[in-house]
Amino acid sequence: MDLFEYQARDLFEKHGVPVLGGVVATTPDEARAAAEQLLGAGSSVVVVKAQVKVGGRGKAGGVKIAKSADEAAELAGQILGMDIKGHTVHRVMIAAGADIAEEYYFSLLLDRSERRYLAMCSVEGGVEIEQLAVERPEALAKVAVDPQVGVDEAKAAEIAQAAGFSAEDAPKVADVIRTLWTVFSAEDATLVEVNPLVKAGAGEIVALDGKVTLDANADFRHPEHAELEDKAAADPLEAKAAENDLNYVKLDGEVGIIGNGAGLVMSTLDVVAYAGENHGGVKPANFLDIGGGANAQVMAAGLDVILGDEQVKSVFVNVFGGITACDEVANGIVGALDLLGDAATKPLVVRLDGNSVEKGRAILTERNHPLVTLAETMDGGADKAAELANA
Ligand code: GDP
Ligand code: MG
Repeated sequence: MDLFEYQARDLFEKHGVPVLGGVVATTPDEARAAAEQLLGAGSSVVVVKAQVKVGGRGKAGGVKIAKSADEAAELAGQILGMDIKGHTVHRVMIAAGADIAEEYYFSLLLDRSERRYLAMCSVEGGVEIEQLAVERPEALAKVAVDPQVGVDEAKAAEIAQAAGFSAEDAPKVADVIRTLWTVFSAEDATLVEVNPLVKAGAGEIVALDGKVTLDANADFRHPEHAELEDKAAADPLEAKAAENDLNYVKLDGEVGIIGNGAGLVMSTLDVVAYAGENHGGVKPANFLDIGGGANAQVMAAGLDVILGDEQVKSVFVNVFGGITACDEVANGIVGALDLLGDAATKPLVVRLDGNSVEKGRAILTERNHPLVTLAETMDGGADKAAELANA
């Protein structure tokens, strides 16, 4: 999960990274109040910053300096609602203005191919870091970090030295790098980037812009991270699936897919896409794995999510009963259709095999629902579902 800048700022503050005051605002009036607060606390100017999860906000006009609370409100009015690279600005952060002497760059990230972490640092930070990396890669120091050791004092000093800091600045920068490592490890991040890391007027080092990506695989260790999720931006169907612990990914086609086991679902997507070539080019509408051992309730929840997708014209249920028993799945389908009643209008093709297949088929045959077609094979089912989607 990528965080907004203001969320990264808060995590930085929590772990002792030097940051400046920052307050989120969603309206010009809130922006004025936030600016009054920061100006009252001694800032000579404030910065109005668009909160969007994309880089280059400054160049796009999403970072502006205000000298008064009224000016902050006016700038917030201009920036709120702005489109930055396809992202609409719904919030701004009003930040205490820094008196910048120098701009640096620092990041820590997971280097999957090398199976370790990587620190990158440069004394030439600011907005053009991507260009710097391409044109003068030697100006961007890259230092490998052993995950078993992390960034200890020696490693932080090594990074600061590799980046070319002066003897006076290097120890101060190394101290800040250690606090950024704490953010990275304690929060289970896969990326912590600060651009710019600045030297302010009095010589102190401050993180002025932060980008953090948290590792969703570690969510179980961080119940508090759930609050950082941008619920408004999530796809409503994906949100509903997540509430029911379903592995669902929305795709762009017309044939809804339900299967058990990621491998079977992936191959079902392929088979349906292939079959669709003979039926007007219809494609799979989603990935949905109801998992091993899925019961009737899970099946019903899955169907409910897929039938809620307006693009879906037909559904292909492809289940190979292992731990999951086919009669449970059949009961789930029947139960879901009964629950939905007249709201169920889309045809379902069902292919069952494996554990309790006879019982499962018997349940569906007996119910004889007008929307349900039983298929004998995976290929046959995919072809039928594609045909129905194209009808
Ligand atoms: P980005 O463009 O999305 O990376 O947004 P940043 O937060 O990095 O801001 C872009 C640039 O605006 C920085 O590199 C700074 O030069 C400038 N900037 C940001 N905050 C301040 C501030 O508090 N004071 C001053 N003087 N400049 C700032
Ligand atoms: Mg930046």
